[in-house]
Amino acid sequence: MRIGFIGLGIMGKPMVNNLLKAGHEVIVYDVIQENVDAAVGAGAASANSSKNVAEQCNLIITMLPNSPHVKSVVLGENGVLAGAKEGTVLVDMSSIAPLASQELCKACAEKGVRMIDAPVSGGEPKAVDGTLSIMAGGEKEVFDQVYDILMAMGASAVHCGDIGAGNTTKLANQIIVALNIAAVSEALMLSTRAGVDPIKVFDAIKGGLAGSTVMNAKVPMITDGNFNPGFKIDLHIKDLNNALETGHGVGAPLPFTAQVMEILQNLHMDGLGQCDHSAIAKYYEKLTGTEIRK
Ligand code: NAD
Repeated sequence: MRIGFIGLGIMGKPMVNNLLKAGHEVIVYDVIQENVDAAVGAGAASANSSKNVAEQCNLIITMLPNSPHVKSVVLGENGVLAGAKEGTVLVDMSSIAPLASQELCKACAEKGVRMIDAPVSGGEPKAVDGTLSIMAGGEKEVFDQVYDILMAMGASAVHCGDIGAGNTTKLANQIIVALNIAAVSEALMLSTRAGVDPIKVFDAIKGGLAGSTVMNAKVPMITDGNFNPGFKIDLHIKDLNNALETGHGVGAPLPFTAQVMEILQNLHMDGLGQCDHSAIAKYYEKLTGTEIRK
């Protein structure tokens, strides 16, 4: 199948690789030429705009930073809807505000384009392995139609409800991840200050009730002092912003999310916005003047 793919960053690039490996023809576009060149090097063809991708493909996947980027790529002058034929399917795999997914789906429907939101969890390692967790919203019939293609990039794909439900699920995921990294950082700072090796703490508790995928992925990064992204602080600010806005809209108070959001803002102001979100530990390191290291 010929698939259009727009947005070739940390996640998009390996996702394209897995579509190519599954035998699909992929036509890509990104505003950064270096990212396009990398995908072409892996076997994709390139287009010169999002409109040009849509002119050549009946299925288009977007993997962009946030709602404004997806709106510009889909609704803009040289965007997907300017080139799409009736019957085209748009799968937006970016993590954006659920409300934005609903607005985009409506605009797509007016042009005869069917859209689902299908954000992912698992980060770069699982994007590379093709084992992402995919959470989707929109018409079940469209989800079923693209299921095999989603499974070329993921280990699971769950239909969570109507359009926007994928992104609501992703916001829930992002709250749990952010609060978990903050809890791990806070706990490891306690042990470090008390003179107990954070690696010993990790080894002792990772198999118990406190253990988590987040703990397994992020503790080695923190204790190595390796904060290369991965998932950037600035992207997590974007997600928690979307979570707080959505929470306020639906009447769900998010007090812990608001607190971790302020930690992330503080790190952003310290110039760490492009670091991995495991750098939440650096907030505690600043407070105490102590590093959590091997
Ligand atoms: P990224 O910043 O590495 O990549 C985004 C890409 O979009 C870049 O290559 C950028 O040039 C491109 N882009 C931006 N505006 C564009 C436009 N107008 N036209 C064409 N291309 C454009 O981000 P990422 O880490 O790959 O994340 C992408 C999405 O996936 C985000 O919504 C993020 O929250 C989500 N996500 C990321 C991770 C992760 O670990 N990195 C995990 C799960 C979900």
